[in-house]
Amino acid sequence: MKKIIVATGNEGKMKEFRQILQGEDIIFSSLKDENLQDVEIVEDGSTFEENALIKARKISELTGQIVLADDSGLEVDALDKAPGIYSARYIGEDTPYTVKNNHIIELLKDVEGDDRSARFVCVIACVFPDGRSFTCRGVVEGQIGYSEKGENGFGYDPIFYVPELGCTTAELKPEDKNQISHRGRALTEMYRKMKEYGIV
Ligand code: IMP
Repeated sequence: MKKIIVATGNEGKMKEFRQILQGEDIIFSSLKDENLQDVEIVEDGSTFEENALIKARKISELTGQIVLADDSGLEVDALDKAPGIYSARYIGEDTPYTVKNNHIIELLKDVEGDDRSARFVCVIACVFPDGRSFTCRGVVEGQIGYSEKGENGFGYDPIFYVPELGCTTAELKPEDKNQISHRGRALTEMYRKMKEYGIV
């Protein structure tokens, strides 16, 4: 049985990692399980890949185990890909998402149609105790809507409109969002690479 640490304090994310690798000979351990929830990690990278690797590397150095970490966010093309890696901190960590979302809508008030393109990005990094590492990226393309719509999901979901589905990701049932989401796609890619590296 292999142990893999997922460098997150988020139970929802732990569940998603367990789900994709269920049936494999792996025990997943969270930062809380490792008593590492208070470790300070300065995410000062300039890309999702760098930040995910910073997190995974720090925890792998502390534990000597294989560690997975993720970093995700929303890129809006008309805003030079902001909020990007700053998605959680955008106009203040504690600012309610309805304020963040309406701020983005306001910034895009003169932007029409395809120029409202945006994407959710999720990068998962895997770091081995010997220092080797790999990253996987999952993306879902969409557009910024003209108003918030939908009650499901979290964060920027109410303004993330997916043209092929004709709704925002906040209007999708959780299981339907998982099917198309950036995190779901990054997890699928991670599973493929874990096989390549002989972890599963
Ligand atoms: P983290 O990678 O969990 O720190 O997520 C960074 C931030 O990106 C979140 O706090 C949200 O603002 C945004 N974000 C990431 N994934 C999603 C999503 O699926 N829906 C809405 N917002 C998201």
